[in-house]
Amino acid sequence: KASQEAEKRGWHLYLVGGAVRDLLLAEEASGTLLIKDIDLVVDGFHKTAEVGAGVELAKALQQLYPTARLEIHGAFQTAALLWHKDPELDSLWVDIATARTEFYPYPAANPEVEASSIRQDLYRRDFTINAMALRLTPPRAGELLDFFGGLLDLQAKQIRVLHANSFIEDPTRIYRGVRFAMRLGFHLEPQTEEYIRYAITSGVYDRTTRENSKTPALQTRLKTELKHILEAPYWKPALQLLGDLGALQCIHPTLKIDEELLGQLRLLERCLRRFDSQQTLIHWQMRLEALIAHLAAEYRGHVAKNLQLPEDSINRLYCIAQHQQKVNKNISSLEAEGGVDEVRPSQIEQLLRQYDVPMLILIAVQSSRGVRRKIWQYLTVWRNIQPILNGNDLRKLGYKPGPQYRQMLDDLLAATLDGVVCNRDEAEEFLAK
Ligand code: ATP
Repeated sequence: KASQEAEKRGWHLYLVGGAVRDLLLAEEASGTLLIKDIDLVVDGFHKTAEVGAGVELAKALQQLYPTARLEIHGAFQTAALLWHKDPELDSLWVDIATARTEFYPYPAANPEVEASSIRQDLYRRDFTINAMALRLTPPRAGELLDFFGGLLDLQAKQIRVLHANSFIEDPTRIYRGVRFAMRLGFHLEPQTEEYIRYAITSGVYDRTTRENSKTPALQTRLKTELKHILEAPYWKPALQLLGDLGALQCIHPTLKIDEELLGQLRLLERCLRRFDSQQTLIHWQMRLEALIAHLAAEYRGHVAKNLQLPEDSINRLYCIAQHQQKVNKNISSLEAEGGVDEVRPSQIEQLLRQYDVPMLILIAVQSSRGVRRKIWQYLTVWRNIQPILNGNDLRKLGYKPGPQYRQMLDDLLAATLDGVVCNRDEAEEFLAK
């Protein structure tokens, strides 16, 4: 239908980007493919008035498929049709753009748009394997447009960039390159790897890490790429490769992968597996927070803010150093007072209850084994223990309601945690004393 509508208007329509890549890969592997993201490009007109062709086509299609939701992104002359949980289509996202080239007013800025041909549209893309198009309109519908050798690179299993300046223009492409290499089991073509190293040496990260940057869109894209990588099963080797390329400097110039960081990430994984099998925490974000927490204290909050992490995460990273110091100091002094094995669970509970779970996990992975074990015990056992009686019980037992209830319940909780009180009778006796 889309190609009919385009043809009616004398336009060409192409399937481009990831869907073409994945179709060709599935064909080679004789596999099946479920595409949920379709990128279409309209081309073949000459009047500037038609730069809105993509939007017009999307509107026409929406008339034909009223269950689709239409979104128009004016500045970029693109439109999207979304089917959410349509019984036949499940969820499907179709982006329709007008063929365009992008010129960068200064490197790594947000692309500005002007109408252009399909070849130029493909040339502005990141890698050869993502820069192929499949013509959908006659004549020659079904023809593959492969100006840059994408098919050969697919067969050679390599990620090759289209031009030398690509990573300077947009450093987030380094992360995309690593992501595609890991996801598809490909390697970075040697010249492409050299371009990456050159971009890093020439300080391209300066633009992604600069505070109050003029290009917040770049940081948004970096965060999106980090999310894709850190939530994928290949996140560890991807991080390792980013580290080897020096590309973690795009997060902060001092960020490096070392044994200490790898150890902390291992502990974090163990912790998330054990304490959060229900995935109530956002695992990719915890990994990113652990990376950021590996930086010197004075950088952490700024980096989190720069990457536009949520408010609670930014706050955590601003103050983790201070809280970690406090937790470590207090646990050490409790151990010094009564001996390592004499610290009571209630003392640890009182110390740790003020922190949220992600904060405790981050503190734990950065602390000594002794402190870590206390935090683990708190998270797995002590945090879940409730006082044996509640406010209602206190009232029934004849205690006059008032602010003293809180203290009584706190004392009771401490006694329960420390094993002094194990049942209701003992609890009532404890309160009576
Ligand atoms: P995925 O399967 O992960 O969605 P995709 O190739 O569809 O892969 P998208 O991020 O959806 O990736 O991007 C769609 C297309 O837009 C890409 O195939 C690529 O051609 C182009 N593209 C996306 N981001 C960039 C970028 N930073 N620079 C150049 N081209 C890009």
